[in-house]
Amino acid sequence: MEQKKVLVTGGAGFLGSHLCQRLVDQGHDVLCVDNFFTGSKNNVLSLLGKPNFELMRHDVTFPLYVEVDQIYNLACPASPVHYQFDPVQTTKTSVHGAINVLGLAKRVKARILQASTSEVYGDPEIHPQPETYRGRVNTFGPRACYDEGKRCAETLFHDYEQQHDLSIRVMRIFNTYGPHMHPNDGRVVSNFIVQALKNEPITLYGDGSQTRSFCYVDDLIDGMMAMMALEEDKTGPVNVGNPDEYSIRELAEKIVALTGSKSEITYRPLPQDDPTQRCPDITKAKKLLNWQPSTKLEEGLAKTISYFDQLLKISG
Ligand code: NAD
Ligand code: UDP
Ligand code: UDP
Repeated sequence: MEQKKVLVTGGAGFLGSHLCQRLVDQGHDVLCVDNFFTGSKNNVLSLLGKPNFELMRHDVTFPLYVEVDQIYNLACPASPVHYQFDPVQTTKTSVHGAINVLGLAKRVKARILQASTSEVYGDPEIHPQPETYRGRVNTFGPRACYDEGKRCAETLFHDYEQQHDLSIRVMRIFNTYGPHMHPNDGRVVSNFIVQALKNEPITLYGDGSQTRSFCYVDDLIDGMMAMMALEEDKTGPVNVGNPDEYSIRELAEKIVALTGSKSEITYRPLPQDDPTQRCPDITKAKKLLNWQPSTKLEEGLAKTISYFDQLLKISG
């Protein structure tokens, strides 16, 4: 296989670090760019000594001049707690970040993939969500900085494709979990696992009847790389996620059972605009990418629990 120079923005984060590992293993020359807002060097520690891996501290809201063949644009905090910490910076990261990486892709004629999100559908009234659904997003709420930032980034990708004939890929990622999530990330799977392992109360927001569909990280990265490899252009956005849907209460119960924890469930208020249901329609991904997830929730959770168990033992 031909070795490519690949830029991964947000490469020291949860998904980015798995992607960098896979690309390095395949022999590509990987440039990982990250400002370490939510990611960390620890996630890419095993790659640091490799001759085909380079780590650069850089904020994508500023221009970046490098020579690469492919770009995966993952830079953006993904957990509500973190993207709401500095909402203006979140929008800048999505919008200015997209403009900069698209400008770069245009100059060097690189193929470019955007890590978009199921949040573009907001709190959906169509279920499961196909790519043709246009969403129900609040422009004026706590999730808007992320949702609208990501929606505007999709528009920029669309327009750079139309106007400058770029080879773009837009992937709408649904809730993904696995090793390398930060223990204080704030997202539900890592929160519940860390709480269960410490026998601390499990923080269930609302009554736990809201649903999500959880994809294991290895499956997601398979889909992401398949999308980059796809020769067909102008495919439009593609949903990638696992359509097995669970209520958040079911997730809590599963994690308590799998960890053998003594934790009890404690109820917290449901955050504003928290989507009540979410499940991907992956018909398009199946057809276009010949891809579908293969990891069952229990199997993926077991691997993630074992990762956090080790991590908590090391950190005490
Ligand atoms: P993450 O927070 O672990 O990773 C994001 C990375 O981007 C971090 O390393 C962070 O430090 C970096 N970053 C943030 N702002 C930056 C900036 N201005 N310049 C450079 N680097 C910056 O989250 P993740 O789960 O790995 O998500 C990766 C991408 O996938 C994000 O774009 C996210 O929106 C998207 N996504 C993820 C999920 C999921 O379930 N994991 C779902 C939908 C979309
Ligand atoms: N850009 C970048 N790296 C490059 C080329 C461009 O970061 O290699 C940035 C540049 O700062 C610019 C943005 O990408 O603001 C958009 O570039 P484009 O060429 O589309 O627009 P223009 O330069 O005409 O504003
Ligand atoms: N959630 C919860 N307890 C937590 C963290 C999250 O009940 O400690 C809920 C949250 O309200 C949401 C779901 O779990 O309904 C998924 O939340 P997450 O932040 O992981 O992702 P998103 O809401 O962006 O899908």
